[in-house]
Amino acid sequence: MIFARVALDVPLNTLFDYRLGPTQAVTVGGFVLVPFGKKIAVGVVLELAKTTTLSLSRVRGILDVIGNIPPLPSDVLAMLKFCSDYYHHPVGEVILNALPTRLRRRHATKPQAVAYRLTAAGKLVDPETLPARAKSRRELMGWLIAAGEGIGEATLRTKMPSTATLLKDLIARGWVETFTEQPYQGAATGSSVLPGPSLTEAQQTAVKAIRASFDRFGPWLLHGITGSGKTEIYLELIATALEANQQTLLLVPEINLTPQLESRIQSRFPKTLVVRLNSGLNESERLQNWLAAQSGAAGIVVGTRLAAFTPMPALGLIIVDEEHDASFKQGDGLRYSARDISLLRAKQRAIPIVLGSATPSLETYYQAQRGRYGLLKLEQRANAAIPEITTANIRGAALIDGLSQEVLHAIKENTRQGQQSLIYVNRRGYAPVLICPSCRWTSGCPRCSVKLVLHLKTRLMRCHHCGHQERTPAACPQCGNPELTPLGQGTQRVEEALGRIFPTARMLRIDRDTTRAKGAWTQMRQQIHEGSVDLLVGTQILAKGHDFPALTLVCVINADASLYSTDYRASERLFANLMQVSGRAGRAELPGRVLIQTEFPEHPLYAALRRQNFDDFAKDILSERKQAGLPPYTHQVILRAEALEQETAMDFLWNAAKRADAGGTEVAVFDPVPAGMARLAGKARAQLTVQSRSRSALHNFLNTWEQELEKIAAPKVRWALDIDPQES
Ligand code: ADP
Ligand code: ZN
Ligand code: ZN
Repeated sequence: MIFARVALDVPLNTLFDYRLGPTQAVTVGGFVLVPFGKKIAVGVVLELAKTTTLSLSRVRGILDVIGNIPPLPSDVLAMLKFCSDYYHHPVGEVILNALPTRLRRRHATKPQAVAYRLTAAGKLVDPETLPARAKSRRELMGWLIAAGEGIGEATLRTKMPSTATLLKDLIARGWVETFTEQPYQGAATGSSVLPGPSLTEAQQTAVKAIRASFDRFGPWLLHGITGSGKTEIYLELIATALEANQQTLLLVPEINLTPQLESRIQSRFPKTLVVRLNSGLNESERLQNWLAAQSGAAGIVVGTRLAAFTPMPALGLIIVDEEHDASFKQGDGLRYSARDISLLRAKQRAIPIVLGSATPSLETYYQAQRGRYGLLKLEQRANAAIPEITTANIRGAALIDGLSQEVLHAIKENTRQGQQSLIYVNRRGYAPVLICPSCRWTSGCPRCSVKLVLHLKTRLMRCHHCGHQERTPAACPQCGNPELTPLGQGTQRVEEALGRIFPTARMLRIDRDTTRAKGAWTQMRQQIHEGSVDLLVGTQILAKGHDFPALTLVCVINADASLYSTDYRASERLFANLMQVSGRAGRAELPGRVLIQTEFPEHPLYAALRRQNFDDFAKDILSERKQAGLPPYTHQVILRAEALEQETAMDFLWNAAKRADAGGTEVAVFDPVPAGMARLAGKARAQLTVQSRSRSALHNFLNTWEQELEKIAAPKVRWALDIDPQES
């Protein structure tokens, strides 16, 4: 008798044994339907065995083998199992959650591997001659003509979502026939790669170095400032992969996954199927794209962290753009780093992985310094000058709604010359807090340990962390003082002030509030490109990945707040953030300028920024980290606990610390402390850090400690281990 050990979406780190019927054939990685309790669940077979440790009478049979979904390939299974072990997360949850939701459903059906092509008669039809009202029919014919040899159903659906009736009609006319799609034949041929610009010398060097190692594992740090032509290098490397019939996985932060990036890729590889995988897709789009990747039909997958697990049979290259970006680490559930597991995947498949950034994470930078990763640098912009970065000292200066004379003057000059300016404010809303000057009351969120942000137009105060909102009080709730003062600047306040100061300037505020409506951001981007805007007031949204040719001045209003944060990573993030927003200035012929308001112009971070010298900054921070024994010199794990009362969470952690048997090992267990944000959405949060210079010592320790934690787990406490935490 054969038993299948099946992974199910349940919070237990175990596999479940089922009997395989005499006529049921399944391989490791295959999908099955099994009874689980009173329910029927979709599972993935991880092992096949001749024996079981359960008593035979208790082993139930597999209900059905889902034959129409191809099994998960071994590299993806290995990566998922690694994630389960390494991140201490139940294996079934890891595996099932990495799949598109549709596949996890009981009636998961994969469209047949059917493909469509034009018949001889169909080839004679010129779609242009079809009546104009038959728009979809024309489009479909267009895709079929473009596809030449035929197009798989999955691929076709990524182009046109609903074609069933149309296809039926075309088949009835004798224009189209179906056939069974052949297995992966190669994503594209060399001839379908259009040439890009001729590369600069630095770009050539980088491309050559990576190309020379295409057939083996090699991590590369591509360290190049914004606009230095990193994306152009990616495209060259993707072309190399395509010529060898290999697929590429390109991971980007969510906010960078723009239609422009996709169209830039698609237009370079017009015949290659490029699919996206990110959280913005609906279930069926995600399934279609996943299947297109898994069948090998998609030559290029562009996606966010969740795409890291996509099966790709001919994967030949992985690129992680903006590899330092915090969004590659998931903050809850399986707290994985898409970058780190991509490195593992590249190693398994013996392929190159390119980590690109203007401001690499210190972890990656350190590996490159030590020679573990290849280092490639791009120090000039490909087709523009590097912007000049200066600071404006505002210590003791009189400010108008947070704006200094120097900044106002620069904006005025720039507008006069008909150029665009960006005023970068890191907070949306009117002011980050409302304060009573007489009794010092502040507008705190009742559910979180943060302040409520004042939104003027709606007269509401909102928590940007838990969504709580309330009406702005007319007077101080504590002492009755009617003169409450908004403190600090949000985008609304800066917009209002600039409107007063430059009444004729055409202004656009760009933050989450103004871009929420569908299509709003697209429309704004168009306005900016057309040059019908003088001043942009915006947040993070504007900092990343956009190219505005007429934008020549960037003013940063309130960066200082992150300078002395309790999170030791705050300055690393601030530097990255400021470099990124600076990168918006002067992307075309016109030179750019960046002006940063600060009370601490002499701070080493700003000094390095003015020189635009990441190496100086990184070396400083690395030596601090070394002295303090922090990552990347040590490895950390945070045990996070959440409860209604802070005391409950802390008690659990003290208990956990007591049971931590680190005696004689190289592992240090720190005392529990309340989290940086001690309260979030009504829950008290606390944490305990464990660290070690040795990763293996740390993980050995965790294996035993985790069992202790299970024992002391109390129903009132939610806890989780955060491996390689990115937030402290
Ligand atoms: P990054 O990804 O580093 O920000 P990009 O690859 O987007 O840089 O390049 C920035 C700009 O320079 C783009 O408009 C791109 O088309 C252009 N560019 C890149 N490489 C070259 C080159 N070798 N010659 C001319 N223009 C280039
Ligand atoms: Zn008061
Ligand atoms: Zn809140």
